[in-house]
Amino acid sequence: MSEKWLIGVDLGGTTIKMAFVSIYGEIIDKWEIDTNRTEQGKHIVTDIAKAIDRKLEEHGQTKDKVLGIGMGAPGPVNGETGLVYEAVNVGWKNYPLKNLLEIETSLPVVVDNDANMAAIGEMWKGAGDGAKNLICVTLGTGVGGGIIANGQIVHGTNGAGGEIGHMTSIPEGGAPCNCGKTGCLETIASATGIVRIAKERLRDKDAKSMLSGSVTAKDVFDAAKANDPLALEIVDFVTFHLGVALANAANVVNPEKIVIGGGVSKAGSLLTDHVKKYFQRFAFPRVAEGASIVIATLGNDAGVIGGAWLAKQAFLQ
Ligand SMILES: [Zn+2]
Repeated sequence: MSEKWLIGVDLGGTTIKMAFVSIYGEIIDKWEIDTNRTEQGKHIVTDIAKAIDRKLEEHGQTKDKVLGIGMGAPGPVNGETGLVYEAVNVGWKNYPLKNLLEIETSLPVVVDNDANMAAIGEMWKGAGDGAKNLICVTLGTGVGGGIIANGQIVHGTNGAGGEIGHMTSIPEGGAPCNCGKTGCLETIASATGIVRIAKERLRDKDAKSMLSGSVTAKDVFDAAKANDPLALEIVDFVTFHLGVALANAANVVNPEKIVIGGGVSKAGSLLTDHVKKYFQRFAFPRVAEGASIVIATLGNDAGVIGGAWLAKQAFLQ
């Protein structure tokens, strides 16, 4: 039994990340294929099944080697039935992903939301370090969120539990969010949000800054490290709202770890030091005492490792 492999699959809008993972969470092999978004994403499941067959053959293995597949999809998911309610990026609506992937691969499949899978991955093998109560937030193009309470993913009624990115930061007059609301945390703390804020502030003729019109989120943090006054102001604004949102979320679940991942987290201690300051201010004192804020360590592997963990939980006898 210890010889068996797990397969983690992490579906994104441009690439599908896949890995063979041991039951101890070690990556045996990992690879990527392009996401075929044509015809409402109807080719994706077949592409995944073919890629798995090809890779098993490369390793001289058959499906007998595989215990099961854990797959993450970019949208709300029913964790039990494996129905993807909606994944706008790939064109799916009420898509029975688990059933279809089981038919195509003849392997057992468990499906979850991609941000939840990243949170599970960090819990198992990353910065979460086995913490059973954990909040994971991914600051990328958007803001993904996953909450683990008592070792279980918080799915909620509609599969939309843990959507930290859509907590309201600016109740009135905030920027429009992809979800249809305005003023969500995602409009501020995502890479996209940081760039929008920087461009707005740069329009002020009196703004003194080394930043220019073609600014990126990384530029903002780099300039802040060089003590650029406008960049420091933006970092303070972004981390204030992130600190408030994480404190509010933490007050609900009392986590041991708060893991910050995604491209923006590469800013490292400049980000976490500011977030910690505001987190301490807005978290309930006992909650603040119990929680440590850390940067994710698994990078792009968090999703496939989380998927492997889900498959292990579901299918290892
Ligand atoms: Zn939103």
